[in-house]
Amino acid sequence: MKILTESDSGQIRNVIDSGVKNKWNWNWLQHSVEVQLEKHGVKTFKLEAIFQKIDVPGKAWCTTCESEINYGSRGRVAMIDHVKGKSHIRKTDTVLSNHSIKAMLKDSSAAEEVNEPSQPSIRDVVKLPVPLFDRVSNAEVDIFNFSKICCLISV
Ligand SMILES: [Zn+2]
Repeated sequence: MKILTESDSGQIRNVIDSGVKNKWNWNWLQHSVEVQLEKHGVKTFKLEAIFQKIDVPGKAWCTTCESEINYGSRGRVAMIDHVKGKSHIRKTDTVLSNHSIKAMLKDSSAAEEVNEPSQPSIRDVVKLPVPLFDRVSNAEVDIFNFSKICCLISV
C-alpha cells in the first residue's frame, strides 16, 4: 500500500480509480466534520487531518483507525459517516487522551525544572553524620589555615 499525493491525481483518476463510481477528489479533504466524542466533547475535524489517498481503487486510509475506508460507492459521504462512526470516535478519544497524557507529563517536567532551584535535592536533605576522624582532620586544616593567616599578619 502506497500513500498518494496530489501529484498522483492523473494516475488516480485514469488508472487506480478508473473503474470506481465515485472517483477520488482532493477537494473532499477540505470538508470539516463536527463530531461528538465520548470523552472530549464536540470537536471539528478537517477530513484532510484524518484521511490519506492510497493506491487501492475506491479506498482511502484513515490515519486514526489505521484502516482502509471505502469511498468508491458513496464518495465523501462515506468518509464523513466513518468519522462520525462509533469505532472511529472511540479511536479518536484514545488518541486525544494519549496526547493529553503526553502533554501533561511534559508540563509537569517543565514545572519541575522551574521549581528545582528552590527545592533541595535529596543529598541536601539527608545529611550523613561526618565521622569523627574527618571532623578532627577538618579542625586540623582549620587550625593550619588559621595559623597561616596569623603568620601572614605577623610578618
Ligand atoms: Zn477512522
